[in-house]
Amino acid sequence: MNNYGLDIWGDDNFIIDNGVLKVNYASKPSLISIVNDIRSKGNKGPITLRFPHLTIKQINKLYNTFDKSINEYNYTGKFNAVFPLKVNQLPNFIHPMLENSKHLSYGLEAGSKAELILAMAYNNIQCPIIVNGFKDKDMITLAFIAKSLGHDISLILEGINELETIIEVQKELDLPSPSIGLRVRLHSGGSGTWAKSGGINSKFGLSATEILDAYEIMKKYNLLDKFTMIHFHIGSAMKTITPLKKALKESGHIYAQLKTMGATNLNAINIGGGLFVEYSQSKSTKEYSLDEFCSDVVFTLQSIAKNKNVKEPNIFIESGRYVSASNSILIAPVLELFSNDYGEGSLRLKSHNPEIVTELYALYNEMQDNTAREFMHDALEHLESILTLFDLGYVDLQDRSNSEILVNLIIKKAIILLEIDNYSELRSLEERIQEKYLLNFSIFQSLPDFWGIGQQFPIMPITHLDKPATRSATLWDITCDSDGEIPFNQDEPLYLHDIDLSKEDYFIAFFLTGAYQDILGMRHNLFVKPHEVNIKFLDDGSYKLDNFLKSQKILDIFDDLDFDTKQLQNNLFSKLQNSKDIKLLKILKSYLEDNSYLKT
Ligand code: PLP
Repeated sequence: MNNYGLDIWGDDNFIIDNGVLKVNYASKPSLISIVNDIRSKGNKGPITLRFPHLTIKQINKLYNTFDKSINEYNYTGKFNAVFPLKVNQLPNFIHPMLENSKHLSYGLEAGSKAELILAMAYNNIQCPIIVNGFKDKDMITLAFIAKSLGHDISLILEGINELETIIEVQKELDLPSPSIGLRVRLHSGGSGTWAKSGGINSKFGLSATEILDAYEIMKKYNLLDKFTMIHFHIGSAMKTITPLKKALKESGHIYAQLKTMGATNLNAINIGGGLFVEYSQSKSTKEYSLDEFCSDVVFTLQSIAKNKNVKEPNIFIESGRYVSASNSILIAPVLELFSNDYGEGSLRLKSHNPEIVTELYALYNEMQDNTAREFMHDALEHLESILTLFDLGYVDLQDRSNSEILVNLIIKKAIILLEIDNYSELRSLEERIQEKYLLNFSIFQSLPDFWGIGQQFPIMPITHLDKPATRSATLWDITCDSDGEIPFNQDEPLYLHDIDLSKEDYFIAFFLTGAYQDILGMRHNLFVKPHEVNIKFLDDGSYKLDNFLKSQKILDIFDDLDFDTKQLQNNLFSKLQNSKDIKLLKILKSYLEDNSYLKT
C-alpha cells in the first residue's frame, strides 16, 4: 500500500495504523480524530495543526549530536544555538519552543527592529540574542537597550557604517555596548536554492579589507573587548556539505588571524543556518547526515585552531528550517472531485453514430492484453480527429462527449492491462485521466513557497490508507487564480482515493510547512491564515487542543487594508430598511464576522 514516502520525509513522526495516519507520540492519536474534534466545535475550513513536541525533538537532536561530536573530539569550545525569527515568528510556535528549551540556553536571532523587539520581550534572559541584517541607528539603540535589560546580545555587522553608528550611540547613551560580531563575505559560495546568501557577490557581510578596517576602528575606539564573534551564512537548505566545509576553513582562518592580531575576546564562530530538510516523497535527496554535519564543523574548527595555536571557538548555529519545518501540518478538506471519470452509463449513443464513435466503442470492447497499446494509440488519434470534425461542424456535442468518454475508458483499460509501472508512456497518459481535487485552502496563503519557487511539500490523505489510491491527482485551491494548483507531476506522482464526498469527508495533509510558510503567506483573494491550534500532549499521554486561534474575520481584514469599516458597513447596510430586510441584515453581519474559506 502507498505510504506516501513517510519513510523518507517522516522521521518517525507519524505512523499508518488501521488505515489512518497517527501521531507517533504519547497516546498516538490519529490526525482524523484531532481534525474531527476541532470540526465538531463548528470550525470548518482548513486547519493548521502545530506539534510543539516535534520542535523540541529537533532542538534536542541538534544539541545532542553536537555534544556527541564535541565529546568525541575533546573539543574545548561550547555549542550554542539560536532560532532565526524570520523562519517563524508566530506565538503558537514561539512560546512553547522558548518554554521548553530554556534549560539548553536556546536563544533567538533577529533580522529587523520588529523581530528584535520580539526577542527582547520573549527571549529567556540568559539565552543569546543575535542581531543580523542591515541596521540603522534605531536598531542599534534597541540593542543597547536590550543589553541594559540584561540580555546577552550580539550585533553582527553587515558593514563598517554600522560600527560607526555603534560608536555614536555608545557616546550618546553612555551605556555598555552589546557584543560585536562581523559577518564575513566568504569567497566560498553556498549550495542549494539559496546559495547566493554566500559567496563573494553576496548581499551580506564584510570583505577582507573591510574586516581589517573594522578591526582597526574597534581598536581605535576601545571596542576590541566587545568583539566576540565571526559569522557567516551560506544559504538555507544546503543540499551538499562541501560548501560548508570550505566556509568553515575560510572563517576558521579569519578567526585565528584576528585572534593572533589581538582580538583577545573573540571566542565564537557562528555558522548561520543551512541544515537540510527532506521534503521529497519519492527518493531521499539528502547528501549528508546531522552526524556528519556536526562532526565536520567540530573537526574543521579544531584542526585550524590547533594549527594556528588559538583557543577553539565556541560554535553558534542559526538553523531554523531544521528546527521548525516539521512542527506544522496543514489539513485541507476536499470539497469536490472534478472528474473525467465517466463510466459507460454516461454515454449518449445515438441509433446512428459517426463512424469514429462506433470504432472507438469497438476498440473499447475488444481491447485485450496484446492489443491494448495499439488500440490506445488509435483511440488518441481518433480523439484528435473528432475534435477537428467538431470545429468544422461535422459532429455535434453529443458525439464529442461520447468520444471523450470512450477515449478515457480506453486509456484506463489499457493502463490496467499493461501494468502501469512498466510503461512510462502510460504514466504520462495518466495526466489525461487525472482527477481534480478541489481543496478548501489557498496555496498563496498556506504554501507560498510552492507558488513562488516550486518548493515541494509532502502531501497525503489522512484516512483510507489501507485502500489502494488509484486516482492520479491534481490539487486545486479555492482562489480565483490558475496558479492555485498543484498539478499532477509524473516525477513525483500523487495518487489519491476514489471518494464519494456525499457519503464521507476526505482530508489532505501538507507536511513540513512550519518553516517560512506561516509568515510568507499572502492574502490573495483575501484568504487569511487558517484556524490553528497547538496539539499539546499531557503527562498521561492524552492530548489537549491548546491555544486555538480562529482565522481572521472578513471585517478585520478590511480594517487591515485600511478601509473605513464603519463606512463600508454603512454602504452595505443602509439600503436594508424594511422588516423583510432584517433577516438579510443579520445574515450579512454574520458573514462579516467570519472568514472567506468555504463552509462545507
Ligand atoms: N541565519 C541567517 C543569517 C539567515 O539568513 C537564514 C536564512 O536564510 C538563517 C539563519 C536560517 O537558515 P535556515 O533556513 O537554513 O534555517
